[in-house]
Amino acid sequence: MNHNKWDVVIVGGGLSGWISAAYAARGGKRVLLVEKADTFGGRAATNTREGVALNLGGHAVYLDGELPAVLKDLGIALEGGNPGSSGHGVLNGGVYTLPGSTMSLFTSRLLSWPGKIALSRIILGVKKLDESRLPAGSLTEWAERCIREPQVRHLFYALCRTATYAHQQDIQLAGPVLRQIKHVLNGGVLYVDGGWRTIIDRLRKAATATGLVDAVSGKVVEQVSAVARLAEDSTEPHESGGFEIRLADGEAVLADAVVMAVPPAECCRIVNGAEHTSLDVWRKQARPVTSACLDLVMRRLTRPNIQFVMGIDSPFLFTNQSRAANLGRNGLLAVSVIKYHGAAAPDAALDRTDMERSLDLLQPGWRDEVVARQYLPHMTVVYDHAHTGRVALPGPDVPEMPGLYVAGDWAGHRELLADAAAASAKRAAEALLQGRAQETLRGVLNGNRSAV
Ligand SMILES: Cc1cc2nc3c(=O)[nH]c(=O)nc-3n(C[C@H](O)[C@H](O)[C@H](O)COP(=O)(O)OP(=O)(O)OC[C@H]3O[C@@H](n4cnc5c(N)ncnc54)[C@H](O)[C@@H]3O)c2cc1C
Repeated sequence: MNHNKWDVVIVGGGLSGWISAAYAARGGKRVLLVEKADTFGGRAATNTREGVALNLGGHAVYLDGELPAVLKDLGIALEGGNPGSSGHGVLNGGVYTLPGSTMSLFTSRLLSWPGKIALSRIILGVKKLDESRLPAGSLTEWAERCIREPQVRHLFYALCRTATYAHQQDIQLAGPVLRQIKHVLNGGVLYVDGGWRTIIDRLRKAATATGLVDAVSGKVVEQVSAVARLAEDSTEPHESGGFEIRLADGEAVLADAVVMAVPPAECCRIVNGAEHTSLDVWRKQARPVTSACLDLVMRRLTRPNIQFVMGIDSPFLFTNQSRAANLGRNGLLAVSVIKYHGAAAPDAALDRTDMERSLDLLQPGWRDEVVARQYLPHMTVVYDHAHTGRVALPGPDVPEMPGLYVAGDWAGHRELLADAAAASAKRAAEALLQGRAQETLRGVLNGNRSAV
């Protein structure tokens, strides 16, 4: 760190931290980004095993969502492939073709004819859904009202689970889930070449290319405190003198503004006086979504016709990410199995057994083809999402602490997953830049033309 004083300090070097940094720098701010891990990326990091890129659990970019829009806005292009909509579903231990295309709608034995017609009607309705008229209430309430056939409802829930990663249909708000399904139906998804670290690498390159961003990793932010300063015309201190950011190694820096791009509980731990602010409300209302992830490097699939499978009556997903993205060499495959956690307390050993049983069904003899594996029993997919218990939308600013902003997948409004991380990061940077515009305007109104 070359300076002690920054326009903006960003705490956290995941997707939301880097997007905030890129936008703040584009607005002319001098930015310091601090990441506690040795490498940047957070949950968008990618490990390499046997030369194959494994994300932390299967990851897909929703092409119609906020993340690709933000990346495009920042001049970042992504390479990869859209895996398409064909696949299989598992119901009562049987493997069926999913009715994902016109052809498979005719041939699939997963639904009766009336069920197929009902599904087509629902899909058409969601595709055309008007954003301003998203339904209120939970996903369960919406589905029970709008989908009468139980088989179709189960299939729709499985689709919602896959698109949102959440197995919480009773508390998920219907509107944001349907918006996400609309993204899937209208834009499809992208499996990213090289894995999601490519996104982080490109964001970092774009941000640092401005010459305004410094980033340090392996440094933990321990405390963020608002610095009281005396107003020119008063003897009363007020909280607009910026922030002091203390690191675990004893170092301290000052900043006019801070973006907290870390989970809500971490915000509350770090920010001095957080218990008296909206940060505490956002922390208390948060309902994280978690899952168990088994990522495999495989020589081949034993049943190559089975590439993507949704559990219809069980909350799991199987996908060969290498069918659409370039993730490795020598023809090795990156295969992900996910078990979505619901309301019950997860059991790591049981989840692993369940996922291995699914593999036994879908890819008999799979163990002989595994070259490397990564088991992540309890990944937090998002720290909060749009659910019925939310009392307030998080961010972008913390109203009780001018100059303090939040970003992250938990700070989404209507957006979900990485789209929430991207949208909230953009909102935080815009609010921060707007803050400067307001200060400048105040300077002009006060006759201080040098502030312009
Ligand atoms: C298994 C799994 C599958 C997923 N699949 C998808 C998908 O298919 N599509 C999709 O859109 N999204 C998906 N997501 C979600 C997506 O990965 C996340 O939304 C996104 O990466 C979160 O970014 P973030 O910046 O909000 O948080 P993080 O990535 O968690 O970044 C926060 C950073 O802050 C750092 N930090 C924390 N405390 C401190 C501190 N005190 N000082 C300094 N640094 C600190 C952390 O080390 C971390 O790097 C998935 C997530 C998981 C876990």
